[in-house]
Amino acid sequence: MIEAYTHTLLMIDLSRGAIETIPVPDELTRDFIGGKGFGAKLLYDRLSPGTSPYDPDNPLMFMTGPLTGTMAPAMRGCVVTKSPLTNTFLDSYFGGSFSPEIKYAGYDGIIITGKADKPVYIWIDDDRVEIRDAGRIWGTDALDSNEAIKKELGDDTVKIAGIGQAGENLVSYALICCEFNRQAGRGGAGAVMGSKNLKAVAVRGSNPVGVHDPKGFAEACKKAFKELEVSPDVEALREAGTASAVEYANETGLLPHRNYRNGTFEKASKLADKGQRKHLWMGSNACMGCPIRCSKIGAVRTGKYKGIVTDIVEYESAGLMGANLDISDVRAVAHLVKLCDRYGMDSMSTGTVIGFAMEACEKGLIPSPEGIELTFGNVAAAEFIIHAVAGREQGIGELLAKGVKEAAEEIGGEARDFAMHTKGLESPAWGPRGVSGMGLAYMTTDRGGCHQRGFPLAYELAGEWEDTPLDPLAPENKAKLVISLQNHSAGTDTLVKCDFGSFGISTDTYAELVSTATGRKTTARSILEAGERIWSLTRLFNIAQGLDTSQDTLPRRFISEPLPDGPSKGHMITEQDMAVMLQEYYKLRGWDAKGVPTADTLSKLNIEPDS
Ligand code: SF4
Repeated sequence: MIEAYTHTLLMIDLSRGAIETIPVPDELTRDFIGGKGFGAKLLYDRLSPGTSPYDPDNPLMFMTGPLTGTMAPAMRGCVVTKSPLTNTFLDSYFGGSFSPEIKYAGYDGIIITGKADKPVYIWIDDDRVEIRDAGRIWGTDALDSNEAIKKELGDDTVKIAGIGQAGENLVSYALICCEFNRQAGRGGAGAVMGSKNLKAVAVRGSNPVGVHDPKGFAEACKKAFKELEVSPDVEALREAGTASAVEYANETGLLPHRNYRNGTFEKASKLADKGQRKHLWMGSNACMGCPIRCSKIGAVRTGKYKGIVTDIVEYESAGLMGANLDISDVRAVAHLVKLCDRYGMDSMSTGTVIGFAMEACEKGLIPSPEGIELTFGNVAAAEFIIHAVAGREQGIGELLAKGVKEAAEEIGGEARDFAMHTKGLESPAWGPRGVSGMGLAYMTTDRGGCHQRGFPLAYELAGEWEDTPLDPLAPENKAKLVISLQNHSAGTDTLVKCDFGSFGISTDTYAELVSTATGRKTTARSILEAGERIWSLTRLFNIAQGLDTSQDTLPRRFISEPLPDGPSKGHMITEQDMAVMLQEYYKLRGWDAKGVPTADTLSKLNIEPDS
């Protein structure tokens, strides 16, 4: 029977140089669908409690979904591993065309374990797989090494996922770069790759992906494209990318400014889409087969950084590398983000780390590096830190390469009060003090404080969700909303779709796509149930790795310092608000008061816990 799964996983053990394929167990496709689900189940089954993220046993898994490589719109790629930043489950997503190429080569996923005894890269050409020497390109940045590998292979259409110097040097928030401008950014998957002495994975595939019911699938695709076409949110993304959110965040008082002390920035408009257009944009760009085309690409046209060719400064980078550091010149922000891309460092975490260092220096807790004024607004200081961290230079580079949580622990005392992270993952560019449900989402996300596993703030600010009135500042009615959004996110992340696809495509249409592509009857309900199952499974994994309820919390600034500006001026999320939301959340999830899934819940979700 022709269908969209290949039912094959490629396993590569770098310690032994062993390469083999194994069939995908039926249980995986039945209960976990693909992407995040496959990764969560495999990680839970394979990794012993307490294993270091840098242990060769920690698998680095590139996973596809059942729709990857088909005509279904707005699909991406997925990496799953244990995070060195949080010591929890990590799934991180990237666009481009690397992931479809895995499918074309004949695999539903690639699982890499072990550690090579010298730098290597992996070359996958359909069923021919080689582990090749990467000594010549070790020490090069993520973009140069991509070009060098293509040159060596004599094919510039090969798709490559690789790391820069930050991954090689085990910077805890190093990313994996896929092609020119797509990154699996959050959580440090690039450092796990570096710990395996693995510079890159290059893939070329020649097998088309079939579908079970071509006519039905074409109809479902037509429906999905239509839903995207008529969505006003998609239209806004196509027009302006995510940078248009800068004005929205500023008006609602959620934009981080000066290490999140404030929620507004008087020069925010310079960082928004219109401000960027004056200096940067030339055209739109898209991941393979995506009609949304949220990505804007171009060159800096004026000033000191003229000539840098770069992707749009998307919202999170504009917020964290711009407003949060009191930098309003978008050309300078583009320069800083491009440096991060080249070194292979998450620009979100980097922006938060630099903001933390600037405040620590202002408070006299760390010294300014020699010859540098480590102050807010100083572009040269931000650039200095990026170079120092990527190179893991003694002193401030070494300190900040560990991420904001560990850096604050090392500095000690007051530094912990303004270390902006949850479970070690640096906070996103949406301060939650005016939207308590967003705070609950950060507290409970499986990979640390993240805005992409549930984004309740839009409903909170609109004042209702499914006919339930919502007060953005109050703790009531937030748990049910957050759980519903998280289940949807985890369920659809099994398809390895782009978050922005969900701005238009309904869950019913996703289900129709999966049913017709795979021949396995899938409904919106079964996708959401898979999401609920995965959420409790990643919770079990995190608990086994040492997580407890004390880490379901927020940075101290959000719970001890009222917002000084914006529409929610004077508000914060109190300890009591947190406790109320969290206990309701645990109860509705079927977890006990300590946040542990109960035996009944596991049985209902068909999860076999490790004994
Ligand atoms: S919406 Fe943007 S990030 Fe998502 S798949 Fe399309 S181009 Fe890629």
